[in-house]
Formats: sequence, C-alpha cells, structure tokens
Amino acid sequence: MAEQIECAVIGAGVVGLAVARRLALAGREVVILEAENAFGTHTSSRNSEVIHAGIYYATGSLKARLCVTGRRALYRYCAEHGVRHRRIGQLIVATGEAQIAGLKEYQAQAEVNGVTDLEWVAADRLRDLEPEVACVAGVLSPSTGILDSHGLMLAYLGDAEAQGAALALASPVIAGRAGNDGIVLEVGGAEAMTIRCRTVVNAAGLDAQAVAHSIEGIPAHAIPPTYYAIGHYYTLAGAAPFRRLIYPVARQDWLGVHVTIDLGGQVKFGPDFSWIERVDYRFDESREAAFYTAIRHYYPGLRDGALQPGYTGIRPRITGPGAPAQDFVIQSPREHGVAGLVNLYGIESPGLTASLAIADHVAELLKE
Ligand SMILES: Cc1cc2nc3c(=O)[nH]c(=O)nc-3n(C[C@H](O)[C@H](O)[C@H](O)COP(=O)(O)OP(=O)(O)OC[C@H]3O[C@@H](n4cnc5c(N)ncnc54)[C@H](O)[C@@H]3O)c2cc1C
Repeated sequence: MAEQIECAVIGAGVVGLAVARRLALAGREVVILEAENAFGTHTSSRNSEVIHAGIYYATGSLKARLCVTGRRALYRYCAEHGVRHRRIGQLIVATGEAQIAGLKEYQAQAEVNGVTDLEWVAADRLRDLEPEVACVAGVLSPSTGILDSHGLMLAYLGDAEAQGAALALASPVIAGRAGNDGIVLEVGGAEAMTIRCRTVVNAAGLDAQAVAHSIEGIPAHAIPPTYYAIGHYYTLAGAAPFRRLIYPVARQDWLGVHVTIDLGGQVKFGPDFSWIERVDYRFDESREAAFYTAIRHYYPGLRDGALQPGYTGIRPRITGPGAPAQDFVIQSPREHGVAGLVNLYGIESPGLTASLAIADHVAELLKE
C-alpha cells in the first residue's frame, strides 16, 4: 500500500531545499526525495557561487524579478543564519570603444529591473580600482557578492528538518501517476517505496523534464524540450590579482568567461559555453587556449601556465542552439492541469541567487 505524504519535493539541490524549507515553515509535512547519496551534488555545487544583482535579465521576466527579490532575501538570510558570504562587488568592463554601448544597455536594463546602484566608472578610476584589468570603461555593481553554496544548502536543510521535513537520500523518483486522489510516486533505490502525495514539487534540475515525462497524467505538450550547455572553469595559481568579480560584456547566450573569487580567495575563470548531448561533467582540457585568449582581452598580465583545470557545470536549458536563452519556467496546475503539482524547468543562473524567491513563488502557486 502506498504511504501517504502531504508534500514531496523531488531533488535536493539549492532550489528543492529552499522550496522544502518554505513549505515546512508553512506547516506542511514534507519529504525531499533525492536520487544521489548526498544533497546538492549537481548544478548547485558546480556554479560560480555569485550572488547576482539582477542586471542582465529581460524586463518583467521571472529571472529579473526573482533575482532582485531573491538577492535581497539571500543577503538577509545569510547574515541571520551565519552562511559565509561577501558583498565583494562586480565590475563589468568594456575592452574597446565598440563595447561601450553594451555597458550602457546594462545600466538601463538594471534600472528597469530595480537595480539602482550601478555606477559608471571611467578608465582612469578603473586603474585605481583594478590595476591589472585592461579596459576603456566599466560599470560597478556594489550589490553583487559571493557565498558558500554548500553552507547555504545546509542552512536550508537545517531549517526544513527543524520543522519536521525529512530528506530521503538515494531515493530516485522513477515513475508516477497523477489522478483525482493525488499523485503517486514510485521511488527506487535500496528501499524502494510507493508514496501518495497531495502536493509534488519537481525540482530535479537537469532531470526535471525526464521526471515529468515519467509521471503519467502530465500532458507531454506541457513539458519543454531538454538541452544541456556545459561550462568549464579554470583556476588561477597564486594570489588573486583582482579585488572584485570582473565580467566582460556578455555574449548573446551567456555572460562570457568572467572572474569569480571564492571566499578562500581562489580566483576562477569561467564558465565557457558549449552544447552537449547528455549530462557528462568530464573536463575537456583542449579548451585551455581559448581561455587564455578570452581572459587576456581584459587581463593581459595572465602568465603562460597560470591556469589549472578546475571543474565543469551544466546549464539546464529548454531552448537550444540559435535560440535566445529562455526565462525560468515554473508551471502550476494552470499550465499542465495536474492538481497539486509544480514543475520547475530551466533553472539555470541566477537560480542560486533567486532560490528563496523561487520558493516563495512556488508556495504561492500551490495556494491557487
Ligand atoms: C555553470 C553554472 C554557473 C552558475 N553560476 C551561478 C551563479 O553564480 N549564481 C547563481 O545565482 N546561479 C548560478 N547558476 C545557477 C544555479 O547553480 C542553479 O540555478 C541552481 O543550482 C539550480 O538548483 P536546482 O536545485 O534546481 O538543481 P540541482 O542542483 O541540479 O538539483 C537537482 C537535484 O535533483 C536530483 N534529481 C534528479 N533527478 C531526480 C530523480 N529522478 N529523483 C530524485 N532526485 C532527482 C539531482 O540529483 C539533484 O540533486 C549557475 C549554473 C551553472 C550551470
């Protein structure tokens, strides 16, 4: 017989954990079903760990709204819960006159998105701020920061568990059925079980579409296609030559090979961008030459041999090559017709920054 659970969250990445926390704090009985043996081993631990200000995203998009509200909530949360973070600031730099228009567009878009603290920085002041960076102008974002993403997930999980939520590791959802009496999930692993839930939140990240296809009753036309775009990170040997995060003017698909600095002071460059067929985190070392070229546009002092292969992360995308990057897709019963179900698709950057706001949004959708 199926065990009855009020609410199941599928996936213990930063988004699933934030949602589980939010629902548990609202007094719901929550079980988090995670396929792996530990939480947060996929995209949530393979990213830049940047608290984004909310500059880049299209007007009125979920990315713009949830990033800005999520960022404010995240700084508050980190301060109150002792999650390590630093408001380190970000400089977006134009390396030639042709990119100045791009910087101005960022400033304008940021204003529209409610990011009102960007500052235009001329070349002479930039030399004082970041002497190693070669550029003709820049935009400074003081609200951009960095954080310890593992610490954040641990804090979300702690809050959820304190309200009675349970995390079931090595518990992949392998099938399901949506009917009038709730959603039945078949959970695999060593302790396979069948559970009947009133509410299900599918936060399975790179596998969210596959999970949705495995649940009978979700119309296939409501499930977006799946694409993956891998990004590589190289680390820099030695002391950090920068004080802030340094971003080039972005490309159409992604933010460009930028500089992030982690809380230990380690400089990382990345991520780059290429389409892949399946989830495979192997590091392709043939990218090194392209990294040196991209970085030297703004950091000409990069020495030969200074880059070390770091790690990769994979962006969950719902649009493929040639199409513009899509907004987050967070589907409620209104879109797919299954009562009690919310599906989250394409939660790429800034999903970490937005996690608390995404959780609030999901909780609102479940009230409908
Ligand atoms: C290269 C890169 C850089 C990024 N940089 C930033 C950044 O600097 N700042 C920022 O705000 N955002 C950033 N992001 C985005 C951010 O990392 C993601 O939005 C966020 O981590 C997504 O979390 P998630 O919980 O949705 O997914 P995930 O972390 O992937 O979690 C999904 C979980 O679901 C589990 N799962 C999958 N299938 C099943 C199943 N059948 N049953 C049970 N469990 C299952 C997985 O094992 C996994 O643990 C970046 C993303 C990438 C790829």
